[in-house]
Amino acid sequence: MNKKYHLIVFGCQMNISDAERVATIIEEMGYKKTSKLEEADLIVVTMCSIRQSAVDRVHWLDDKFKKSERKPITILTGCILEKDKKVFAEGFDYVIDIKNITHLPKILKTKITHKTSDRLFWEQDNITNYLDIKPKHSSKFSASVPIMTGCNNFCAYCVVPYTREREVSRRANKIIKEIKGLVKNGYKEIWLLGQNVNSYKDKEKNINFAELLKIINKIPGDFWVRYTSSHPKDFKQDVIEAMAEGNHITPYLNLPIQSGDDKVLRSMKRWYTAKQYKKIIADLRKKIPNIAISTDIIIGFPGESKKQFNNTVKLFKEVKYDMAYINKYSPRVGTSAFKLKDNVTWPEKKQREKILTDALRETAFENNKKLIGKIVKVLIDSQKDGIYFGKTDTYKSIKISTFAKASVDKQNLIGKFVNAKITKANNWNLEGKTI
Ligand code: SF4
Repeated sequence: MNKKYHLIVFGCQMNISDAERVATIIEEMGYKKTSKLEEADLIVVTMCSIRQSAVDRVHWLDDKFKKSERKPITILTGCILEKDKKVFAEGFDYVIDIKNITHLPKILKTKITHKTSDRLFWEQDNITNYLDIKPKHSSKFSASVPIMTGCNNFCAYCVVPYTREREVSRRANKIIKEIKGLVKNGYKEIWLLGQNVNSYKDKEKNINFAELLKIINKIPGDFWVRYTSSHPKDFKQDVIEAMAEGNHITPYLNLPIQSGDDKVLRSMKRWYTAKQYKKIIADLRKKIPNIAISTDIIIGFPGESKKQFNNTVKLFKEVKYDMAYINKYSPRVGTSAFKLKDNVTWPEKKQREKILTDALRETAFENNKKLIGKIVKVLIDSQKDGIYFGKTDTYKSIKISTFAKASVDKQNLIGKFVNAKITKANNWNLEGKTI
């Protein structure tokens, strides 16, 4: 009987993508996936160190494994701070850097039961080799393709440069091959991933991020490409031009501002100003008029005064975001901001969060209202009780409950593109009918 494995994934799209590669390795060792933790012979946790809540949950698992009478093999990988490795090694059997996950069969002294060309990478010792393992995608129509990993930026609040080390880019030909394979297999949405995609560089072929986008734009097929994460300091005009070509790159961008105040940005070590950021947005809107923009914000960074916070609110109103991911600052051990006094109280942070959410709601609704009556392309991703849900090319959530053509085979819509007319705008989503 096959042994079983259970995968627990915390964190961002990059961690989910890493986990899809970890699954390939484990399945090639002969394990079968189970959704039940208690029946697993091997448990792998892909950790995230960005949020304390994820770290706390790994501590809880660590404790559970220490006390457990059943003894499955337990492995911790993903984004782990050096200081946490020793702590977690008490409960987990193995704590393995994600770049070394290719050595898992050797570590577990397990034979590879399914031979694939990917195992060629397993004996090599290169940080990006694990990214070349063919992943077990969890979706049949949307896939992530990592183009680089690591970060050189050391933003004051972030642990990523300490957990993922310095930036390393994958070779462009491997990325293109992976995308072509996905398109051939019917994938409709491809996310290019990296901690800072704008500093992507295939040094051997001298291909930067904009050039990579242009090569991808030439791949034949009906599919969308999105990307994350971007850094405003590295976001250059050539990327706007590649996006404006529009063959596959969708008119959507998440461009994290983090604060609308220059002094706070300096203390966050972000190295751009609000004015420079707004210039990028203006250039994007000039070339791609229908682009939707989202951002990431940290509120209550140490020392952020009310006046400085108001600069963020002002920027929100000027930029007129479609969406924002608003986070209340909490100190992370190991970062340079950890030494700063966390002097904005939690109730004040919550109050600022509310003010910013209200400002966002207004601009998001205004932007959504402009789409009423327009026809947009939608990728359907789920359905419930005959109502279908999906995302527009501008990454807006849309609900479709009316189908214009009686002949539409609704059963087959998930993972397909449809054209929809927008009939209603809400704060955070749209409603429409197929045409
Ligand atoms: S750019 Fe800044 S926030 Fe993003 S991963 Fe690097 S250090 Fe973290």
